[in-house]
Amino acid sequence: MSGTHLRLDLPKLRINEIFGPTLQGEGSFIGQRALWVRLAICNLRCGWCDTAYTWAFTEATAKRHEDKIVYSREAEIHEMTVMEVRTKLLELADPCIVVFSGGEPLLQTGGRLMTRDEPALFTRATDLLGELAHTLEHAGYQIHIETAGTKLPGFLLHGHVAHYVVSPKLHSSGNTTQTRRVDAPLQFFAGLQNVTFKFVITKAQIEEDLEEVDLLTDRYEIPPGKVMLMPEGRTRREVLAGTIRLGQRAIDRGFGLSTRLQTLIWEEERKR
Ligand code: SF4
Repeated sequence: MSGTHLRLDLPKLRINEIFGPTLQGEGSFIGQRALWVRLAICNLRCGWCDTAYTWAFTEATAKRHEDKIVYSREAEIHEMTVMEVRTKLLELADPCIVVFSGGEPLLQTGGRLMTRDEPALFTRATDLLGELAHTLEHAGYQIHIETAGTKLPGFLLHGHVAHYVVSPKLHSSGNTTQTRRVDAPLQFFAGLQNVTFKFVITKAQIEEDLEEVDLLTDRYEIPPGKVMLMPEGRTRREVLAGTIRLGQRAIDRGFGLSTRLQTLIWEEERKR
């Protein structure tokens, strides 16, 4: 097995946390009642990531994050079957939105970890996330996916997704262009109707970030009506200031604006 073509079989989903009901805090469904399935592991390393506990498990990865904290893999990753996740969600709330977030949830859509060398992910192989979406939709829940847009959804999963929130990462995230900008998934998501592109805009590089958003929306022909700007921030003060800074800039571009309701209400409290 070559290192660059690593395939790791996943007989169970790798879950970081399941919680709710809470409120969707971001994007076009902001304020709506939702359950959360946070999938463990991410292929990106954003310096300002607010869920680094899903991926910063070694000194080397933690160094990429502004907090430099090494989290415990054992404490943060829970292997669960589709039925275990389903049972937990049904116990938590009657039918509502279920958000599959992360980490990067689409790493597990084919039932295994995929490498960047393997972009054509419309696989019919075991798709545990697809099976979960199928059984939840059948029970009346509405499936939303939050992804950074570097991976395609699995074939089964895609058939059960009500809405995608795609958040392509910009230069200011600290990831290389090659890892954060992958043509096939971005072209795929840009062509969907049930999608919102949500761009995190940093305080330190606001104009550079907005220039890159303009470049990406042009390059992938993303209509302005599908785009929302959102401020980076992990405190009420940062989010409020960022929301105010972005208001007119969003209007000028024909974009929408999202704040971060979960931060405004609960700041960094987990499972919110
Ligand atoms: S893509 Fe999302 S989960 Fe992954 S490092 Fe970036 S912000 Fe964190």
